[in-house]
Amino acid sequence: MPKFEYAPAPESRSIASIAESYGLFIDGKFTDTVDGRMFKTISPASEEVLAEVTEAGPADVDRAVTAARRAYEQTWAPMPPAQRSKYLFRIARIIQERARELAVLESLDNGKPIRESRDTDIPLVAAHFFYYAGWADKLEYAGYGTSPKPLGVAGQVIPWNFPMLMLAWKIAPALACGNTVVLKPAETTPLTALAFAEICQQADLPPGVVNIVTGAGDTGRALVEHPGIDKVAFTGSTEVGKQIAKACARAHKKNTLELGGKAANIVFEDAPVDQAVEGIVNGIFFNQGHVCCAGSRLLVQESVYEQVIDALKHRMEKLRIGDPLDKNTDIGAINSAAQLAKIRELSKVGEEEGAARWSPPCELPAHGFWFPPTIFTGVSQAHRIAREEIFGPVLSVLTFRTPEEAIQKANNTPYGLSAGVWTEKGSLILWMAARLRAGVVWANTFNRFDPASPFGGYKESGYGREGGRHGLEAYLDV
Ligand code: NDP
Repeated sequence: MPKFEYAPAPESRSIASIAESYGLFIDGKFTDTVDGRMFKTISPASEEVLAEVTEAGPADVDRAVTAARRAYEQTWAPMPPAQRSKYLFRIARIIQERARELAVLESLDNGKPIRESRDTDIPLVAAHFFYYAGWADKLEYAGYGTSPKPLGVAGQVIPWNFPMLMLAWKIAPALACGNTVVLKPAETTPLTALAFAEICQQADLPPGVVNIVTGAGDTGRALVEHPGIDKVAFTGSTEVGKQIAKACARAHKKNTLELGGKAANIVFEDAPVDQAVEGIVNGIFFNQGHVCCAGSRLLVQESVYEQVIDALKHRMEKLRIGDPLDKNTDIGAINSAAQLAKIRELSKVGEEEGAARWSPPCELPAHGFWFPPTIFTGVSQAHRIAREEIFGPVLSVLTFRTPEEAIQKANNTPYGLSAGVWTEKGSLILWMAARLRAGVVWANTFNRFDPASPFGGYKESGYGREGGRHGLEAYLDV
């Protein structure tokens, strides 16, 4: 069948206005740095400079924490919970109203396809604020005592893969529980967090309740180690997570960590192959594979191996890679040159270790950071590409014969964030789910998120839960 050709359908970028330069959002205002410096944020799809952003120094972080403390003691914690709830509902509504603009901004700064930022990221951001707005005045029914208390000032550090969604996962429950926050977005994706600062102003949120300090790892470290922080929430690499866990243990700070993953997506012989292939594609190529819960290890039952791989390759030939703002794009840009180098390096190791590499023929844009959708077959459990998080559009394929073998292989990882099971048998789904050491197990679907559903890991994937009633615990003194 001839391949269907699509005319370009770019979303207009004029809906997102980007300032030339951004200060830090402290105590309800954008302010200049005291001891930091400026850096540039670029579009990973074109390497074009989007804006100049502030790298906050320790004195800036201190100002932000001081503002958050004052707001906590004088305004936010004493406020009647129903009032807090109103602010959160207001923020959620403004996010909905500005959804198109925020989606464009996210795709420009992060490189993800507009179809994903428009249909997944930003709607989930609004849903998260709506969900926790509803909890704010019902905390005594959450199962954490009759009068649950907030912790104080939360220091929150988030990564670049879902910039605004991770902000929502951190800020919405913290505020609903009566805490104030200082948040540091990732160095490569600060723009939607700065837009969120404007939304806080638009919502008349009292000054100091939300503070945004942009910067890199040093700014994150200064925030985590600041003595005025009562609780740390981090999403990112396991390596940095371990450093943060140590710093928090030394200072007796409560902390929650959401770290890496190497999830198994397990396809049994009775699974509907076409649906499973959609789930495999969604599991590893959604957001260029920059997903902590990505289904990066495909485990296929031996009896259907060839059928599944043929169907997968056929489907991958149809994936469109290119301009993130084009509504037809399936795979956008890799977020940074450093991440691209890591993906290239691990893919090279995969070949050297003897696995067979395959990508569909596809043209990559001349500028920016790109990596084609790739699968490795003939992968063994000892291979680095089966053990390490690649965090890119690269799938390692392994096989199994029995459910017991699938469990052994799926659990043979230091991580434990998510897993997927594809089968027609409900009993097998339940049998597998009870044995998989993963915080989330999807059945006949993958990468599904809902604000009411808790999310988090086992082992080196971190501890604590975000989302749902469980997500409140991380921000309450229980
Ligand atoms: P990091 O863990 O370094 O980044 C996450 C956040 O932590 C960023 O805001 C970062 O700032 C900040 N940070 C970095 N060092 C420190 C520190 N010592 N103290 C406090 N905060 C710090 O992830 P990378 O961006 O370096 O990505 C590396 C790998 O991590 C990826 O290839 C991927 O495998 C994994 N990863 C996993 C994620 C997940 O969701 N589980 C998300 C992102 C990455 P800055 O961005 O400026 O460095």
